[in-house]
Amino acid sequence: MYSPADDSKADADTPYVAYAGKPLDLPRLQDDTRADLVIVGGGIAGCSAALHAAEAGAKVVLVEAMTIGWGASSRNSGHLPPATKHEPDEIIRRYGRVYGERILNTSDTAPQVLADLTKKHNIDCNLRLGGHLTGAHMPERMEFLEKRVDYWRKRGRPLEMLDRDQFAKMTGTEFYFGGALDHRGGSINPLAYVRGLACAAIKAGAQLFEHSRAIRLEREGSEWCVTTPAGSVRAKNVFLFTNAYTDDLWPGLRTSVVPVRVLQFYTKPLSSNLRQSILPGRQPMIDTHRVMHAVRVHDDGRLHYSIGARMRPGSAPTPEKAMMRLRELYPNLGDLDGGTWWAGWMAFNEANSWKMHNPEPGLYAALGCNGRGVMLATMYGRDLARLLSGARNDDLCLPLTAIKHVPFHSFSVAGVSAVRKWYRMQDDREDRRVQHLKKATS
Ligand SMILES: Cc1cc2nc3c(=O)[nH]c(=O)nc-3n(C[C@H](O)[C@H](O)[C@H](O)COP(=O)(O)OP(=O)(O)OC[C@H]3O[C@@H](n4cnc5c(N)ncnc54)[C@H](O)[C@@H]3O)c2cc1C
Repeated sequence: MYSPADDSKADADTPYVAYAGKPLDLPRLQDDTRADLVIVGGGIAGCSAALHAAEAGAKVVLVEAMTIGWGASSRNSGHLPPATKHEPDEIIRRYGRVYGERILNTSDTAPQVLADLTKKHNIDCNLRLGGHLTGAHMPERMEFLEKRVDYWRKRGRPLEMLDRDQFAKMTGTEFYFGGALDHRGGSINPLAYVRGLACAAIKAGAQLFEHSRAIRLEREGSEWCVTTPAGSVRAKNVFLFTNAYTDDLWPGLRTSVVPVRVLQFYTKPLSSNLRQSILPGRQPMIDTHRVMHAVRVHDDGRLHYSIGARMRPGSAPTPEKAMMRLRELYPNLGDLDGGTWWAGWMAFNEANSWKMHNPEPGLYAALGCNGRGVMLATMYGRDLARLLSGARNDDLCLPLTAIKHVPFHSFSVAGVSAVRKWYRMQDDREDRRVQHLKKATS
């Protein structure tokens, strides 16, 4: 069966590459060594944990199977919504008051943590916290967004509702019935960010290795031994941050998530007219569709668009098809003549959220990247690193749960494709239903 690890070893062709400096070109692990902590996975979560644990004085070794950021961390949309997948009341209902508040606090404080981290370590990643937009594709979804805005405004957070005209002005599309602007959010170059975190971790004393897949993880007395093809590390603590790219290193972890292949598309630079009318404030935008539109405009004028899931490796919509969807939002786009796509894998589970596990003493895993991971991976990596300086399991911001196999995991490709089609049909039906309302109110 195809696995995300079978993707091309090359870094993805994204609009980030040109502005993210050079690849780090880190060595392979070639010795047998000792540490306080071994981290498996060099994405944002792993690099954040490496940095924070090393800063706290721990001897840290991180092993990455490919290159730093090769997984979802360099392939995402770079949107920074300070939010979890679930709404605040749902989070409290699912996790209870103590953990619920911790989880909400994590997403709420994340923008400031990223701002502080990038400033402290001089990470040049175009972090811009100028707001994040969500459009309502039906009038009913305005009420849903109002509830969210209301929740945070009562806590003094800078969110606002925008009516149809205001939203159209900020986005350049008249597709929506209005929307919400969360002033805490923004955008980032995630490849530059993850490389910056890795460099900061190295400066803090952590040892990071590329092309060093962990192929065995075994208990040896009171220690763990992580083996790679050419070396090994022994340590009391091991963190697994392998997310959708999780292999069979630890029994059951791979099948605790369903990897979903998500496609991204970017155009050639827009004309200066279009640059001024589409997202002129450069806030990224998502919407309330089930298969949501996610759009941003990069500084060099490229329009970047999330196309949705295609499970078959190698399969991608033609530029024409991607442009057709984009034209639903921006009918005046004209012919942008080609475009480039890439794919990355998100990890879904039945809770549709991140989970933390501690299956054996000293062994931890955090995964479940479902599209809110740039900030949350930073935060959860930092959170687990606190264990090295005395924090207890009960202090973590997520409850530790047992690793749970997703039922019918081997049918996930067919399952995800069917769900995606069903969601898309529902979205299309709703769009058709509100067409006449749009005409009447325009
Ligand atoms: C297409 C797409 C769009 C997204 N858009 C957004 C967005 O706009 N905003 C947002 O906040 N989030 C977004 N996300 C989610 C976000 O990118 C992830 O949540 C986040 O990057 C996860 O980071 P991570 O470090 O946990 O995992 P990853 O970055 O996936 O890193 C896991 C790493 O583990 C390595 N690995 C696996 N097995 C082994 C092994 N045995 N030994 C050594 N290394 C191993 C892999 O090679 C990989 O590099 C998106 C994700 C995708 C795929």
